[in-house]
Amino acid sequence: MASILTESSRPIHGEIAKLDSIIEMHVHTNPDSSDSMLSKEELVTVGIEAGLSGANLAEHDKVLERHQQESLRSAHPDFFFNFGMEVSTDLGHMLAIGLKEYLPGIRRAEKLREELDKVGGFLIVAHPFRRLFDPVTAMRTGETFDLTPEQAAETMPVFKVVHTLEIANGANTPKENAYAADVARLLGVRGTGGSDAHSSSGLGYFATGFEVVIDSQETLLEELHAGRFEALQFESAGIFSYFNPPHDQ
Ligand SMILES: [Zn+2]
Ligand SMILES: [Zn+2]
Repeated sequence: MASILTESSRPIHGEIAKLDSIIEMHVHTNPDSSDSMLSKEELVTVGIEAGLSGANLAEHDKVLERHQQESLRSAHPDFFFNFGMEVSTDLGHMLAIGLKEYLPGIRRAEKLREELDKVGGFLIVAHPFRRLFDPVTAMRTGETFDLTPEQAAETMPVFKVVHTLEIANGANTPKENAYAADVARLLGVRGTGGSDAHSSSGLGYFATGFEVVIDSQETLLEELHAGRFEALQFESAGIFSYFNPPHDQ
């Protein structure tokens, strides 16, 4: 069967997606992310109601322990859990998939990539343009961000280190997401979507769709490396549309 996600023509923004797996790629749960109020049980209940097939836990600088992983998977056989993490690095927040635990030195994004390469992992820069267009941030830092998407794609060091970027993040402004989508297009990569939810509110607002059933980290990594995924936006319970905003040029 031909892949619907790697055809040369990209899906149209807003078109309803008919895909086998819809994964919330960026979510924080309590107590493993101390700033989250979302319990894992709530994630499953609310996630299934929204139409998610699973979630990538992106706890801050932490991967869940093996015994926690096993008990979660056996308690929720109908909801796929992947155990990633969101790492704070010198080049921003990164969604890292494939590491078994936090490793020394991965605060440096290059080291993080090196460690992921050893295990066939995947690296996504999360919300790369968050607050860069914000006048308050500009006032604080004394800098305004005035790169064109072309310049950002070409010159920002972060894009030499990651496999791809998050183009749809539920805590971003629409402008930040549209800009990131533009940069992904210029880099020639598919971007991911995730809510970045820290509570049940907004959970699954953005997600990442796959055309095969994702039921293991191996399959998830295989599809990510092959670029067979698309960022999605929640429409109504069980219905997601493609997030592939049209660009200006
Ligand atoms: Zn973050
Ligand atoms: Zn986050």
